[in-house]
Amino acid sequence: MHYHIWTSGCQMNVADSQRVAAGLERLGYLPTKRAKDADVILLNTCVVRQQPEDKAVGRINQLKRVKARHPERVLAVMGCFVGVKSPVSLQKRFPWVDLFLPPSDPTDLWAYLAEHAELAEAQTLIADAEARRLALGRTDTILPPSEAGQTPTAYLPIVLGCSHACTYCVIPYRRGVERSRPVAVIVAEAEQLVAQGVKELTLLGQIVDRYGYDLPEFAGAEETPLVTLLYRLHEIEGLQRLRFLTSHPHWMKDDLLRAVAALPKVCEHIEVPIQAGDDEILTQMRRGYTVADYRRLVARIRELIPNVSIATDIIVGFPGETEEQFQHTYELLEELRLDKAHIARYSARPLTVATRTLEDALSHEEKERRRRVLDDLQSRILAAKNARYLGETVEILVAGYQERKNRWYGRTRTDRLVFFESAGDWLGQLAQIKITWAGPWSLVGEKS
Ligand code: SAH
Repeated sequence: MHYHIWTSGCQMNVADSQRVAAGLERLGYLPTKRAKDADVILLNTCVVRQQPEDKAVGRINQLKRVKARHPERVLAVMGCFVGVKSPVSLQKRFPWVDLFLPPSDPTDLWAYLAEHAELAEAQTLIADAEARRLALGRTDTILPPSEAGQTPTAYLPIVLGCSHACTYCVIPYRRGVERSRPVAVIVAEAEQLVAQGVKELTLLGQIVDRYGYDLPEFAGAEETPLVTLLYRLHEIEGLQRLRFLTSHPHWMKDDLLRAVAALPKVCEHIEVPIQAGDDEILTQMRRGYTVADYRRLVARIRELIPNVSIATDIIVGFPGETEEQFQHTYELLEELRLDKAHIARYSARPLTVATRTLEDALSHEEKERRRRVLDDLQSRILAAKNARYLGETVEILVAGYQERKNRWYGRTRTDRLVFFESAGDWLGQLAQIKITWAGPWSLVGEKS
């Protein structure tokens, strides 16, 4: 018996897929790289922009033929294409799909397999999920990830959903309201992961610094709950590195920045999206901060965390973005010299406030031009910043081997990708690498 999982989109989806894989492996399924050889096929989808949504629809359509030829195979679609409310219309539109699963909750898959494949262990998975639901008083059916295929780095979701409602964003409609997972659940899962060989954990949430505000255990707490969690996870023996993402400028408090600086295992790496460098656009996006606030935050992060690396997200071509407003974003990016910028073209999403109230008037070509202009700027900034690593020795956690180029790769604490060649087995080891080549997107070096 085999399973195949196709994953698109964010780190949260990657984490969800790993956990579904864990459940399927407990049921006796083995992974296969080819969908057409699998008894269970799962597509874990993203709809943050039109492009990933089109890709998801393409995949579902492709599998129609496989399903026609092999009706006994199970075809499941999961994630943000489905959403928490799973509309009946999806079943009508894609009748060859057996089941639609919301993000982060595979319980219906276990129920389906219990009924159709008569797998007794599936009942155990359902019982486990139900026990968690009762114990936690909320839906938390995430499974601990599988041991098989475990990498030295792993994602650990700590806040599910999002209640912020930025006007462009569809995520709150698809992942449901914000809900934090209790400390004990997260710690148990982290300990299990570390026992399985994981060395680096990245804590995940749409606004990760809002972790815990909805949990009774943090009621009345003065300290930022994420700080408490970081200190607790920091004690886990064998864990070497901790990161968290994504932050929101409004929720990054000084105590969190101080914790990053004080805790040796927590990496000097902050992901805090600006989205636009113009106050008018930020207001229309309902982000809740100004350019001046963001500038102050960047200065504060740099002041409190030595050698910190800061990554951001930017959307170009938001409805009504003028050339002048776009220039403001350009100038800000040029001024701040951040360490990474994910730049996306605005994409109108169903139900969002921006789609309902504003006209998406800019052409694809104009959005693409703006994206490229920012991308070129950022790549020049990074080429200059990375050139300073030449001749220096950096520490990386080796995360894998690139077969095609016969080289190991890993990341520095500041999230820079580093490649090196070596005959030894370096997987999961910390390696000291002397940098011999530096480009905007990666570094190459030698074992020193
Ligand atoms: N919750 C995180 C991540 C959201 S999704 C945050 O608040 O930043 C990841 C990125 O996708 C966002 O940061 C944003 O830059 C981009 N994005 C979200 N909706 C988009 C849309 N409608 N069009 C283009 N990019 C979008």
